[in-house]
Amino acid sequence: MQMRVGGKEISSADERWIPVINPATGEVIDQVPEGTLHEVDEAVSAAQAAFDSWGKKTVRERGMILHRAAGNVREQHQELARLLTMEQGKPLRDAVDEIRGFANILEFFAGISGAMNGDFIALGSLGDALVKREPIGVCGAIIPWNMPAIIMGWKVAPALLAGNTLVFKPSSSAPLTCLSLASLLELSGLPPGVLNVVTGKGEVVGEGIARHPAVRKLSFTGERATGYRIQELARSQLKDLSLELGGSDPMIVWKDADIGKAVSGVIKGRFYNAGQTCTAVKRLYVHHDIAKEFVVRLKNKVEAIRVGNGLDPGSDMGPLSGKPQLDNVISFVNTVEKKGQGTILTGGNVMTGGTHGKGFFYAPTLVTDTTPECILLQQEVFGPVLPVVPVNDLETAIAKANSTPYGLGASIWTHDLSVVHEVFSSVAAGVVWVNRHLTIPPEVPFGGVKESGIGRENGIAAYHTYTRTKTLLLNW
Ligand code: NAD
Repeated sequence: MQMRVGGKEISSADERWIPVINPATGEVIDQVPEGTLHEVDEAVSAAQAAFDSWGKKTVRERGMILHRAAGNVREQHQELARLLTMEQGKPLRDAVDEIRGFANILEFFAGISGAMNGDFIALGSLGDALVKREPIGVCGAIIPWNMPAIIMGWKVAPALLAGNTLVFKPSSSAPLTCLSLASLLELSGLPPGVLNVVTGKGEVVGEGIARHPAVRKLSFTGERATGYRIQELARSQLKDLSLELGGSDPMIVWKDADIGKAVSGVIKGRFYNAGQTCTAVKRLYVHHDIAKEFVVRLKNKVEAIRVGNGLDPGSDMGPLSGKPQLDNVISFVNTVEKKGQGTILTGGNVMTGGTHGKGFFYAPTLVTDTTPECILLQQEVFGPVLPVVPVNDLETAIAKANSTPYGLGASIWTHDLSVVHEVFSSVAAGVVWVNRHLTIPPEVPFGGVKESGIGRENGIAAYHTYTRTKTLLLNW
């Protein structure tokens, strides 16, 4: 597939390509151009040229285009989901959910378009003020590979609704769904140049967008270290930055919890998308009174997870998204074993042979008897590996939940409102779930605290982050 700039398909100036590999088979399924700074400049110029007329449309006119695009995405959800599974690995039914999730996000923002007005402020003897919300201009968006359609929706929908134009960079390992969605948006009426997609390496295309002085706002989702690098690159400019970074979400299961529901919550919370979700359950703290029974039931369920090619309807969990991700998970588990930081209760191995062939499969893994230094409790593990730790009291559970540099999500499983209140007040996170983990509907503002980032996506708040106020003061 080619890049999309100014409404046209283009390739890279030096005619180099990046292969897109199916992580379930190791086979090359397509290729995308390895973009250069030349294409970044072209995309910014196209976005600048399109800004004037796009920014002058009413919010409702722009919302109608998003709404039409959502309908077209729904019509083609099967083909899009298949493409997503083939480039990223998740089971087809989860890919279908993700594509529908993209449509949901477009529809949410289209739905609020009629209500996005400015303000009138009566100032008495000082007259009146009219406050208008204007778009910022050309914005940049850089996203990872784990949930390309959803994260694209989080950025593209509010930015476009607010009247901005965009230079968008998908990850090199999962660019195809994003390119197809961009092309569908254009078929639905998005004018050329409003959304430009440049593929290529982070160090070239990503840094080119981050450095570009005409990009007035940049929204990035990815690793903490990349976020810091982007902040450094943008330092000499007055660029508005939103950095949505990693997480190490704790799940606390209290003694009164419904064990069956909580076990199912862990299966979805940790093993959905092969554990490669920013808000996955990355540390599990279970009340001592129920820990024994909980671990037995969890182990049974974990061992029943069917790992295989996402296109096979029998698969519950697909491969990791690529070799680098697989190597990363292997290295975490090796460290635990070599340093005696825990016991591998189940899993702990690469899955090869048979239907797994040359894919990047890793067995769903539980680690118990962890030491306080256990690396799985300190760092973000982007894969299907879960440390399970018993806790005796709420104070300890909260202290442990807060013991990493991250603060993205957290969940508490209980029916005791005082426990919910204590956790909600004391755990540092952007979102706290009760008897649930992972789901983030488009209505709900989402983002982290501490090292999980700055900025918010989703909800009306996200729309506002893509606007600037301009005030008219009237002295009658
Ligand atoms: P990554 O930081 O390696 O890459 C993300 C994007 O940044 C890619 O498009 C990449 O090409 C680009 N990039 C890489 N180096 C760059 C540079 N120097 N300058 C500019 N752009 C550059 O992250 P990843 O491995 O693709 O994604 C996994 C991470 O994303 C995890 O830490 C996960 O928690 C995080 N994540 C966060 C959220 C959230 O909403 N907070 C959501 C999903 C994933």
